This record gives sequence, C-alpha cells and structure tokens, in this order.
Amino acid sequence: MPRKHDIDTVTIHCIVGQWTAKQGVDFFASAGRQASANYVVGFDGSIGLCVEECNRAWTSGGKLTAGGMTGSQNDQRAITIEVASETAHPYAVTDKAMEALISLLVDICRRNPGIGRLRWEGDKALVGQVERQNMTVHRWFANKACPGDYLYNLHGQIAAEVNARLDAMEQAEKPTVDSTPSDWAKEGVDWATRNKLMAGDGKGGLMLHSPITREQFCVMLKRYHDERENLV
Ligand SMILES: [Zn+2]
Repeated sequence: MPRKHDIDTVTIHCIVGQWTAKQGVDFFASAGRQASANYVVGFDGSIGLCVEECNRAWTSGGKLTAGGMTGSQNDQRAITIEVASETAHPYAVTDKAMEALISLLVDICRRNPGIGRLRWEGDKALVGQVERQNMTVHRWFANKACPGDYLYNLHGQIAAEVNARLDAMEQAEKPTVDSTPSDWAKEGVDWATRNKLMAGDGKGGLMLHSPITREQFCVMLKRYHDERENLV
C-alpha cells in the first residue's frame, strides 16, 4: 500500500527467532499474515526486501501513542527493519546481523534525503520531531519488548556508527584539491599560475600531480607564445 507520508524515520524491530532473511520474508509473505516489514535482516547477515520502501509495511502495530502518533502512523513514514534475534530477553542479535543492519541503514540514509543521518535520544515524547530524533521503537506503540533490550540499548551506538560511515563516505567522494606544489616546483608553479599559463580544473584546483595530455600541453604552449611579451 503506498505511503501517506514522506519517509523520514527508521524503526528497528526484533523478529524473535534466529532466521535467515529469506525465512523471514517467506514468513511475512505467507497468506493471512497481518504483519510485514520493509526489510528483514537474517542472523547470518543476509538482507531481504519484503515490502518496497515506497510502500508502508505493517510492522509497528499497537494501541499506544507516542508523541501523538500511533504505530500505524509511524509505519506510514518509517522504513521498518526486522532483525533476527534470540527468542528470550534481551533478544540478542548476532554480530553478522548487526553488521548487516548497519550496512543497510547506511544505504537507507544515502538513498533517502528525508532521513539523511540517524538521530536518537531514547525519548518517546520526540516521536514525529524528526529533526531531533528519527529512530523509533515498537515498544513505544505497543506493550511489547520489541526491539528487545539488546538492540534498544545499542540504538545510540548504531546511530553513531552509521553516521560515522556516512561521513567517511562523503569525505572519500569529495574531489581532492591538489594545489600545493612540492618545494622544488614552487617557484615554477607560482610563475605559471601568476601568468595564467595553467588553469587546472577551472574551479581553483591546480591538479598539480595529475598527468598532462598532449592537448593540454599544446594549450599551455600557445598561452606562453601569445603572452610571451607580457610574462612577469
Ligand atoms: Zn516490533
């Protein structure tokens, strides 16, 4: 069913069973189930898509409200993830499941500008105030332990790890500005830039340590030729 709200939240659940993602997806897909999730993360680190992100899943049901919202309203705006867990308190998950969950969350944040980064305060009064907290938990909407104390207590760390990876990826994708000459080249580089013989990337980066092509070399030679009377 299409969502009635833009995606701006994530909700992590525990599945209460050490299943693979495929087992989880098959379970939710079986006829008559009144439950689903956008994603299932298996104990073995497998990840399954159960309900496409553009559609709401029926994951966070319950009779309670938090921040004036019901679990059903939460699912209209949240990407919900069921993670395979132990069947008893504190519903621990495997390290492989945790790693897969974090990778999945990084991917979700990158593809959904309405989420961007993860924010967690552990405060159910903040439900819906996504600029302060955009992670919610099922226990706020129903008398349930979900997502279990194990995952609940790690929410802050999960957010920090996801955000750190997002920062690192953003940093790695930034073009490196290469405008600092080696000591032995400084005089020559200063002369060439002062006389506009070399334009670099045209946006301020001199590309000093990038290889030069024959056509670039010709352009620089011609600039030198044309400006030879005026060089300073
Ligand atoms: Zn749940």
